[in-house]
Amino acid sequence: MRMPMMAGNWKMNCDVSEAEALARGVVEGVGAIEKAVVVLCPPATALDRVQGLIAGSSIKLGAQNLFWKESGAYTGEVSPLMLLSCGCQYVIVGHSERRGRFGVPEDDMTDDLLKVFGDTDASVNRKAKTALAHDLTPIVCVGELLAEREAGLTDAIVRDQVLAAIEGLSVQQVQSLVFAYEPVWAIGTGRTCEAPEANRVIGVIRTAVDGRVGTGVAADVTMLYGGSMKPENVEGLMQQPEVDGGLVGGASLVAESFNKLVRAAEEIRGR
Ligand code: PEP
Repeated sequence: MRMPMMAGNWKMNCDVSEAEALARGVVEGVGAIEKAVVVLCPPATALDRVQGLIAGSSIKLGAQNLFWKESGAYTGEVSPLMLLSCGCQYVIVGHSERRGRFGVPEDDMTDDLLKVFGDTDASVNRKAKTALAHDLTPIVCVGELLAEREAGLTDAIVRDQVLAAIEGLSVQQVQSLVFAYEPVWAIGTGRTCEAPEANRVIGVIRTAVDGRVGTGVAADVTMLYGGSMKPENVEGLMQQPEVDGGLVGGASLVAESFNKLVRAAEEIRGR
């Protein structure tokens, strides 16, 4: 049975005191929720303090990235052991902003910057494996660029990313991870994918998973939609049978908005 889930990706926002205030607002609003999984993914600098605030509530802690080594000379990287020591249970893997698949041109979006983070299908697979090996649940992000959608390549791109991400995983590992379908053109743009289309593409992901690991396996996998989810559109998205919840950027930075998304997920899909 799939539980609805709302995960807030705070990205590179919130210093420690802002993160504490935001976490407090979520705990006060939805900290006792039982029929939906709520995950907060603050920046690494605030993980420890946010964990202190959510302790005793039903809210879970997630990180925004990890490296596959446990320790060593990898300046600036964060290891799975470090995430565990902060109380993380989830970690976002392969977000489009880390794959270098930015959808929105910005003034500083030079070719060099695009290569800075450089996650690839192979590194996403390695990170997912690392997370699973450390009992962290990876939230694996997949999604197409606008040009790819316009070229009719959405299903092929998403399928390839999914199959690469689960390469070498056991059935049990696949069942325990979370996928987030995040069309890159809908992230941070205010432009949402129409709910039936999000449902359809998540259906494509389930079919790809079943084709690789066995019929019926994908029915157990939690699949989120991400891309400008907000209180105004959450209902339509959560009514879609394939959509189990959201990976939320902008709307997760205001406790009141995020709490509305959590309540909608619980009301519509909580059993
Ligand atoms: C995200 O960062 O994963 C995301 C979906 O962002 P937003 O909700 O702001 O589009």
